[in-house]
Amino acid sequence: MSMSQHPETQAITAGRPQVAPDAALNPPIVLTSTFHAGGPIGYGRYGNETWNALEDAISALEGGQTLAFSSGMAAISAVFSILPIGAPVVASNQGYSGVMTLLKTFHESGRLEVRFVDIVDTPSVIDAMKGAALVWIESPTNPCLDVAELETLIGAAKKSGIGVAVDNTFATPLIQNPLAMGADIVMHSVTKFLSGHSDVLMGSLSTNDQALFKRLQDARSFSGSIPGPFESWLALRGLRTFPLRFAKSQENAKELVSRLSAHPKVSRVRYPGFGAIISFEVAGTAEETQTVCESSTLISHATSLGGIESLWERRRRWPIESASVPEQLIRLSVGCEHVDDIWNDINAALASI
Ligand SMILES: *Cc1c(COP(=O)(O)O)cnc(C)c1O
Repeated sequence: MSMSQHPETQAITAGRPQVAPDAALNPPIVLTSTFHAGGPIGYGRYGNETWNALEDAISALEGGQTLAFSSGMAAISAVFSILPIGAPVVASNQGYSGVMTLLKTFHESGRLEVRFVDIVDTPSVIDAMKGAALVWIESPTNPCLDVAELETLIGAAKKSGIGVAVDNTFATPLIQNPLAMGADIVMHSVTKFLSGHSDVLMGSLSTNDQALFKRLQDARSFSGSIPGPFESWLALRGLRTFPLRFAKSQENAKELVSRLSAHPKVSRVRYPGFGAIISFEVAGTAEETQTVCESSTLISHATSLGGIESLWERRRRWPIESASVPEQLIRLSVGCEHVDDIWNDINAALASI
């Protein structure tokens, strides 16, 4: 039934308890480490009713079957953990700094053989796929907002029997559905848009492949990278309004892109045409860019993204951020405030240099 509903509706209806007289509308927060013997779960590291509710809701949006993890990085680590030692992996040379750091470490230690590619150069990405075990695609990339030709890349990988995992954190299932394009795994930092209130860290993996699901589930069970029941409940509560928040943030972002593009102190605006993240470059030094970030009063000067509140930061303030990210690049996560209030804050902050 839920498959025929629109995502806006599914975000509201999925992951609820069975309807019965006096049954609760919302799933309970099941705080227990163990269960009476004889059931399918048995122990709190193997399963939890509150996780299931969130997982069902993410599945309703992304398709497949979903596993929730303690963070986005925990979900990503589970994917790489099931690859054999030295497995060749194709990955973008620019993307979320945590993933870049993890992959570089794996490559240097010999845990994986990572082939770093320019993800927008489709022919060279396809070239690098020869003999690979997995293609890891983040699109749009964090923070440069490069967009991969997802359908072409997934099609090429599947033709050669190569696994494909897509980090869909920035686009969200409202923009693209990698599983429907043939990807094996779709990953989310649930910390970001899906939960949307900057109050939990969580990740997810969804897949249509039963055997793969079981391997990833075992990876979670035996590495122990499980989410907390309370966090799962908060994430699901946040997910109810995800389509509403995303629509508003995206509308704000589109307006801000046109205003930023006309601002004399902005040298470049990166925006893929959808979504709620804008990366723009200040016409000035790294220090001046830092001053801009520190001068806002409405927009929080903080890392992370995808919350109901606007946030921004100069990405290169982090030593692990890729050197290919310009020093003057500010990543702005556009929230749901009134667009004129956000704009006035940006304008005043830019006037401080
Ligand atoms: C934040 C982020 C991650 C990591 O997720 P955490 O929940 O912080 O562990 C992975 N990929 C992208 C694109 C992100 O923005």
